[in-house]
Amino acid sequence: MFVSNNLAQKDVSMKIAIASGKGGTGKTTVATNLARLAADQGYHAVYVDCDVEAPNGHLFLRPEITETIAVTVSVPDIDASRCSNCGACARFCQYHALLCLPEEVLLFPELCHSCGGCRLVCPKQAVDEIDRPIGQCQTGRCGQLDFVSGCLNRAS
Ligand code: SF4
Ligand code: SF4
Repeated sequence: MFVSNNLAQKDVSMKIAIASGKGGTGKTTVATNLARLAADQGYHAVYVDCDVEAPNGHLFLRPEITETIAVTVSVPDIDASRCSNCGACARFCQYHALLCLPEEVLLFPELCHSCGGCRLVCPKQAVDEIDRPIGQCQTGRCGQLDFVSGCLNRAS
């Protein structure tokens, strides 16, 4: 959550993080109430739900969503007509996201960390990059409170 105000001609701002490793401890209850209270007190407050695997702040605040942006990462796209199956890309990849077979190179996109290294080491310039959608980011308003939330796609 981000809170700011102008007190006595002096800009004051705070970032307040509510976090816990355990579910059911009341993180969302505390965060949403703090954010609403700050906004109701006249502060410029932004509630940011960073729990991208299971965001639920919207269930408490019921914001009006004004914008939804797709979030993507770059993954390799192998041009089979250029590829010589040399295996350099698969040997380079520390995340085992590529498997070079005699006839093709297989990509396991969920293992790719988008480092771009396989493209750099390919001697045939056979590796391009394409965008892989992994989730979305939503922004909106809940009264005077600004709302931001990220959410991963289930299959990502
Ligand atoms: S971009 Fe990096 S992590 Fe992804 S497949 Fe290529 S080398 Fe592996
Ligand atoms: S490094 Fe390039 S040429 Fe070699 S297997 Fe990978 S994509 Fe094919």
